[in-house]
Amino acid sequence: MHKLSAIQLRDRFLEGSVSAVEIVEYFLKRIEKFDPEIGAFLCVMKERSLEKAKALDEKLKKGLPLGKLAAIPIGIKDNIHVKGVPTTCASKFMENYIATFDATVCRLLEDEDAILIGKLNLDEFAMGSSNENSAFYPVKNPWNTKCVPGGSSGGSAAAVAARLCPITLGTDTGGSIRQPAAFCGVVGFKPTFGRVSRYGLVAFGSSLDQIGPITTHTEDAALIMEVIGAQCDFDGTSLPEEKVEYLPALTKSLKGKTIGVPWHFLENLEPEILDNFKEVIEALKKQGCTIQEVDLDVLQYSIAVYYVLSTAEASTNLAKFDGVRFGKRSEKATTLDEVYRFSRSEGFGAEVKRRILLGNYLLSAGQQDAFYKKAQKVRTQVIEHYAKAFTLCDAICMPTSPIAAFEMGALRDPLQMYLQDIYTISMSLAGLPTAAVPSGFLKNGKPLGVQFITPQKRDVDALNFAHQFESAARYHEKLPAGFDEELL
Ligand code: GLN
Repeated sequence: MHKLSAIQLRDRFLEGSVSAVEIVEYFLKRIEKFDPEIGAFLCVMKERSLEKAKALDEKLKKGLPLGKLAAIPIGIKDNIHVKGVPTTCASKFMENYIATFDATVCRLLEDEDAILIGKLNLDEFAMGSSNENSAFYPVKNPWNTKCVPGGSSGGSAAAVAARLCPITLGTDTGGSIRQPAAFCGVVGFKPTFGRVSRYGLVAFGSSLDQIGPITTHTEDAALIMEVIGAQCDFDGTSLPEEKVEYLPALTKSLKGKTIGVPWHFLENLEPEILDNFKEVIEALKKQGCTIQEVDLDVLQYSIAVYYVLSTAEASTNLAKFDGVRFGKRSEKATTLDEVYRFSRSEGFGAEVKRRILLGNYLLSAGQQDAFYKKAQKVRTQVIEHYAKAFTLCDAICMPTSPIAAFEMGALRDPLQMYLQDIYTISMSLAGLPTAAVPSGFLKNGKPLGVQFITPQKRDVDALNFAHQFESAARYHEKLPAGFDEELL
């Protein structure tokens, strides 16, 4: 079952060849067998998922109508609320917090009869690129367990790569869906900002955060977008309703399409990564695309801009974790000031503290103009350069990451870690939809990825570009060694 796409799995359930309970038991068994080594799950929702499966089997027996996601097990990144289940954000601060309401995305998934199977590990509060910032345990990359799975949605990507569930939700503020998808050889989709409701997602950078799917196949990502890509009254930045049919749109040939490539910006790529990217471009040419150079040199500033704006937003968003209202309250504290100070000192990890300090500094009276306001201006430049590039092409293509999965502990300097986000951050700054798909392997067997970026609201087109490439390249059919075992 783990070799099927989610759509194939659903169809087997609907035709009656496998029951929902069998599906859930099968994936629970895989989690039990493989996850102690991978560490992707922070919580497995065993009883809840079996209960839902039983109800779906009943529904099918009675001939009642079933939803688009019937019997598909889905894992949720642990910064998204599922009512009655812990939301830890992989932080000691939130260790004992139980969500009091459902995120809109979870409600939409369950309304279409998906089965929520567990909550997935991440970098604390989604801050990081390697999952090493989880306060509980790091996630390992199924392709090479000495290596990181990427971050911050490392648990979401590793779970799909090891086929512990066919679909997961991740969140992307500066690349956290796409970079782990690339490191783990799976598909990751970051929607247009505003396409998917952020209600019930613990905020990191509110002008950047988007929820999106991680899957083995682009069709599965499209299917999820049909369900979660909905207007939501509880998110002030939610886009107005637009009837978008994602799956039928994945059939458009790329013949005659123009792909923009910022060759100059990509100049410093490692030779093996550059070779892989050139192969991607050749494959796209074979599919009938024309390649057009576009000028995106402004993206060299995107890391600086992002780490100013995202830390500024994070410092504001994380102010609510004060030891009074949510999560941890220090037992040492005897005064109100100590409640704030000790709870935050004890509850947050080093990276989160670094960002809160940086963000507060950047927003302080003397610094705002020099940093925050300047970064906003450069963000506008990024948006404008993309808009100009899109006058010359239908989609832009670039590698997802300048490196493949690295060994745990290899990047100790936070700045070195930040620099690796160079190819994913700008789309978050510009709110653009971006589909990341596997593009092959390094000689040492580590997966690589490539991204297709389209103008705002053209989510469907980004997915179609990725799908057409995937259909020809077929890297998504490979499984990491050791994870191909059937457990029936
Ligand atoms: N790696 C980036 C960071 O550390 C992006 C994280 C994200 O997208 N949540 O902030």
